[in-house]
Amino acid sequence: MLQISQLRLPLDYDEAILKGTVLRELRARAQDIVTIKMKQRAIDARRGNVEFSCQVLVEVLNEGVMLQRLAGNHRIKLAEPTEYTELDKTKVNMAPVPPEKRPVIIGTGPCGLLAGLILARHGRNPLILERGKPAGDRARDVMAFWKRGGDFNPESNVQFGEGGAGTFSDGKLYTQIRDRENRIPWLLKELVKAGAPEDILYKSRPHIGTDRLIKVVRNMREEIVRMGGEVRFGAHVTDAVIENGKMTKVILANGEEILGSPFIFAVGHSARDTFEMLHRIGVPMEAKGFSVGVRIEHPQSLIDRSQYGKWGGHPRLGAAPYKFVAHCDTGRAAYSFCMCPGGLVVAASSEPGMVVTNGMSTYARAESNANAGFMVDIPATDFADQGVLGGMAFQRALEKQAYELGGGGFKAPAQRLGDFMKKQPSSGPGRVQPSYQPGVTWTDLATLLPDIVTTTLREAVRRVDDMIPGFGLDDAVMTGVETRSSCPLRILRDPDSLLCAGIENFYPAGEGAGYAGGIVSAACDGMRVAEKILNG
Ligand SMILES: Cc1cc2nc3c(=O)[nH]c(=O)nc-3n(C[C@H](O)[C@H](O)[C@H](O)COP(=O)(O)OP(=O)(O)OC[C@H]3O[C@@H](n4cnc5c(N)ncnc54)[C@H](O)[C@@H]3O)c2cc1C
Repeated sequence: MLQISQLRLPLDYDEAILKGTVLRELRARAQDIVTIKMKQRAIDARRGNVEFSCQVLVEVLNEGVMLQRLAGNHRIKLAEPTEYTELDKTKVNMAPVPPEKRPVIIGTGPCGLLAGLILARHGRNPLILERGKPAGDRARDVMAFWKRGGDFNPESNVQFGEGGAGTFSDGKLYTQIRDRENRIPWLLKELVKAGAPEDILYKSRPHIGTDRLIKVVRNMREEIVRMGGEVRFGAHVTDAVIENGKMTKVILANGEEILGSPFIFAVGHSARDTFEMLHRIGVPMEAKGFSVGVRIEHPQSLIDRSQYGKWGGHPRLGAAPYKFVAHCDTGRAAYSFCMCPGGLVVAASSEPGMVVTNGMSTYARAESNANAGFMVDIPATDFADQGVLGGMAFQRALEKQAYELGGGGFKAPAQRLGDFMKKQPSSGPGRVQPSYQPGVTWTDLATLLPDIVTTTLREAVRRVDDMIPGFGLDDAVMTGVETRSSCPLRILRDPDSLLCAGIENFYPAGEGAGYAGGIVSAACDGMRVAEKILNG
């Protein structure tokens, strides 16, 4: 199989144009080609033109001869294998596992689900404990909460329930982690098998969307159960027992004791009560920096124009994303986080009396606003005096203040960007309507955010406007507060065995343990832990 890189195609290319371009590139005849497959397709808007830059896999007759003839063309080479090979199946014992010996996974987010899928496929009958509800019931709770604000359920919300924090999201599937083991191509195929759109296999910035994610996580759970696993909902782990340096059981909120071997804690960044419990029983952890800021909304059409010029709105391009980092004179960086093209700002609280924002999109990304977290670094030194759980206390204090400033009922405080820059409160929207439900209260966000965050954001607006023309739009809406960018602590683990430092039988994993920062990296961390368990 040959791989052609940086193959340029016009936006309106079809099969015939693709084939013609490949033939020209290979200087080949149609009869030399067996198959052509798109491996990766990226949008390239850098050269005053917008087109696709592709990696294409081509099966040809007489591959060796053709490769020799094209030796001077560095964009053509033999395709590299993308098989996920980390797991040596010959070493895996497929014998049935007694209940007290089966792996127990806490959490059904991407980390827990993927660990569960791999363990189930290899005969380990994992038990997965999830504090929240199955995806369908969870979706009903979340929708009711967004509509009315009064029906908040601390066990069933945007952070907790089947699929974890990523279920109500844009479902972006790109990451900066290295992937020598080819876990990511394998993961993407599994997601497609479970109902994700096929284009995630070749788009350079793939996304699934909330509407499809709800089905995907349910189908993955059903596959785990078919393969001998068990998933229990409403199973909130509130305690764990460590005896002689080994985790021996976990205890549910109803007092039930669960034995297992080993335990994988994949609880996500919002399981604050679980972190408090683990800290109390002596699990080693350290404070970790995170970011704080607001969600910012612009008209999607403005972002499309800024990114794609006159091609903005082309159906093949979809709603444009953006990404930026602005290093400011305050010594801090402001950056875009979890950008959701054509999306909605969502209420992402997991505790009563606290307001938290985040963003989501459906697969179509068809809403009229683009939104992104507009965040500033909070290093661990900012809360070092408050101990290892200080970051959590810092987040909670901001979220409580946001709730109060919003006036209750989970309304979020909001401000027009122009007013934020002029240091005056807002009294209503301009031409950008905020999408946050159950509604916003117009105010002055500077009274909520730490001074360093406010100053850095104000400076960054000017810098980002140079990179993304129109970003500084007066009517852009800022809604706060965004605090759940990543986990404010890390559970220490051995880098080789992945076991918690000094505690046997206990694997802290995923974003909550501080080893992932998104859907794909959390899923890959779950896979790594499952591989360690299987390979012994
Ligand atoms: C609104 C939103 C949008 C996002 N958008 C994206 C995106 O587009 N792309 C991206 O890459 N990332 C996105 N993220 C981040 C992404 O969702 C997380 O990085 C990822 O889900 C982390 O996976 P995880 O499995 O480590 O933890 P989580 O997904 O947080 O899962 C943890 C699970 O553990 C359960 N749990 C917690 N404590 C307990 C307990 N004590 N007992 C039993 N169960 C427990 C929780 O209910 C939850 O289901 C988004 C997050 C949010 C909130």
